[in-house]
Amino acid sequence: MNAQFKSTILQDFRKTAANPVNVSLQEWKKSGRKIIGCMYHYIPEEIITAAGMLPYRMKAVGSKGTELSESCFTQINCGFVRHLFDSGVRGELGFIDGLVSVNNCDHIRRFYENWQKKIKTPYMHFMPFPKKSGREQAEVYRKELADFKNSLEKHFNVQITDTKLKKAIELHNETRRLQRELYELRKKKNPPITGADVHAVMVASSSMPKEKYNTMLTGLLEELYTGEGISDYSERIMVVGGELDDPKFIEVIESQGCLVVADSLGYGYRAIAEDVDTDIEPLTALAEYHVLKRPACPRIFGTTFNRNDFVRHIAEEFKVDGVISVRLPLCDEWSFEQVNLIGYLKKHGIPHLTLDIDYILSSTGQIKTRSQAFLETISGTKHGR
Ligand code: SF4
Repeated sequence: MNAQFKSTILQDFRKTAANPVNVSLQEWKKSGRKIIGCMYHYIPEEIITAAGMLPYRMKAVGSKGTELSESCFTQINCGFVRHLFDSGVRGELGFIDGLVSVNNCDHIRRFYENWQKKIKTPYMHFMPFPKKSGREQAEVYRKELADFKNSLEKHFNVQITDTKLKKAIELHNETRRLQRELYELRKKKNPPITGADVHAVMVASSSMPKEKYNTMLTGLLEELYTGEGISDYSERIMVVGGELDDPKFIEVIESQGCLVVADSLGYGYRAIAEDVDTDIEPLTALAEYHVLKRPACPRIFGTTFNRNDFVRHIAEEFKVDGVISVRLPLCDEWSFEQVNLIGYLKKHGIPHLTLDIDYILSSTGQIKTRSQAFLETISGTKHGR
């Protein structure tokens, strides 16, 4: 591509996204402060920030295999939890002082139980997350958040006041605002940044202190506003999926000449589309954000149509030519989702490709071949071939 953007800030983000540990985490740890591992995006990270700790979204980037997790999992458990557990057994995630999880799916439930028995991180907390989205469910989740807050306070001997919570919410909202600003740049005809790099910036936010991240992202945005746009790409593509945390997947898709300009991903637009309310009681605001406001993932009953509309809305807003949806084999939630999405996008005339990918990118051949064929089909249709 013509604008391989050169920036030391971007390089730092890339490095942070590509490794389980990074300089910021090491500095944080060295200063005696705690790190709490978070299993999935329904964890209200703001509570952890308000406790003076660092929320770290659990990931197994760079995992070499699942050998050490095989005795605790079956072959029908998804690759994400097996790689993550393997990394845990190897001590690669030994920097976390606590682990908090929601019951996102049966695979995560199993992961949590195994972690509790075998790895025994000093602090562990599990929260049931409602299966439906509604005011009653938000109230139930608020109670769970209060329990979580109390247990953090008790275990680590800290005090999490409403003032601290409000400050943390404002800080995380600022992160989301800056990230939305980054996404705005992707709407341009010639966006100044590739999809893989945007993804690296997004993933990096889950393993860094938010203050430092916001300063770096502000600097990057300033550079990007004056940066050269990318013009030598074929199609504009949107990627849809779950907890995709490796920017290399997007890099492989873009290696076929297209530009990924939008997404609906757990680390992507679904995480930043909405802010947490700052005008109401903080725990209520956090519960309402997760249960009612933010775009739901497929585990929440009755949200498929909203999510499909969300994908179409983003596809139109970012003027995409086609959608690629990805899922990990054995992930039941995203398997059903793909089936629903295929019919929906077809009905609305949006070209769509489904890809099954391993959690760790081991071979790229199939992704390349199928993406290339998809791009050729889109191009052929556009030019009446
Ligand atoms: S990828 Fe799917 S199956 Fe695996 S933990 Fe996530 S939601 Fe569960």
